[in-house]
Amino acid sequence: MKLKNELKGAKTAAISGHIRPDGDCIGSCMGLYHYIRKNFPDIEADVYLEEISDKYDYIEGVKDIRHTVSEPKEYDVFFVLDCGDTDRLGSFAEYFKTAKKTVCIDHHVSNSGNFADSNLVEPKSAATCETLFYLMKPEEMNTEIATALYTGLIHDTGVFKHSNTTERTMTAAAKLVGMGVEFTKIINDTFYEKSYVQNQILGRALLESVLFFNGRCIFSALRQKDLTFYGVTPKDLGGIVDQLIVTKGVKCAIFLYETEPQVFKVSLRAKDEVDVSVVAAHFGGGGHVKAAGCTMMGSVYDVINNLSAQLAKQIAEE
Ligand code: 5GP
Ligand code: MN
Repeated sequence: MKLKNELKGAKTAAISGHIRPDGDCIGSCMGLYHYIRKNFPDIEADVYLEEISDKYDYIEGVKDIRHTVSEPKEYDVFFVLDCGDTDRLGSFAEYFKTAKKTVCIDHHVSNSGNFADSNLVEPKSAATCETLFYLMKPEEMNTEIATALYTGLIHDTGVFKHSNTTERTMTAAAKLVGMGVEFTKIINDTFYEKSYVQNQILGRALLESVLFFNGRCIFSALRQKDLTFYGVTPKDLGGIVDQLIVTKGVKCAIFLYETEPQVFKVSLRAKDEVDVSVVAAHFGGGGHVKAAGCTMMGSVYDVINNLSAQLAKQIAEE
């Protein structure tokens, strides 16, 4: 795929990603937005994403992001980044459906690669931002693009820690650092910094966590009443599952929170040989081998029971 070809002849372009956008989704959308502004200034480009945390304010232009679908519009080209299905596009799927051409750039193994008119799906890429980086020539880039793309690399690799990190990832990161990215600030402000309530809810989730399968799995669940009590919203819950998975001996961590009565957003993380993408896919979700998610219905007990039945196929109970 060549970005230049995908943009050829377009006067309007829309860029969007998955619901509950994470650092890679935001970074890739903003990186492509700045790429178009720098290299194709005549194209009118709009970014559509759900509301994002103000910790991403250092990325130039995040205030331009549109959060709602207003009037019917037919974009010449619609880019879907870090996302491979219309369900996960949320309300922005409307513009995907009406666009003259659609382009998908993604790295999820669960993306079958025939979602849009033109598709580039690289499951070996640590982040959509990595894939996007290799679609851009150094002379087509600037610090704004580099800052946005670096954010995605950091978030999807857990600061270059996860097993998805490769030489290709580090080469991209090195080039981005060479373009003047303020990496210490980005890593501290977006990855490690937590507000007081975020720390409180993390503490609560850890306190109430339960080990099972002889200490090989761990789960923690938060109900709507817990979120209300601490005054937190879903975007304050990032990082909880990543803390659960560092528990010694644990190979799979499950974190769930209630979005509506008896409806749970499930986050899964894996270590060693465990593959959680198949478990998430079994329940209609998706993601990566070591980090995946889905939405499940019922009580916490039902959700954990159903997940355990699938996990038992990989993690034998001793
Ligand atoms: P997280 O647990 O951080 O929300 O998500 C981990 C990974 O799984 C991310 O790459 C995310 O895009 C993917 N993921 C999470 N939930 C879902 C889901 O419901 N459907 C799909 N297809 N992917 C998901
Ligand atoms: Mn990603």
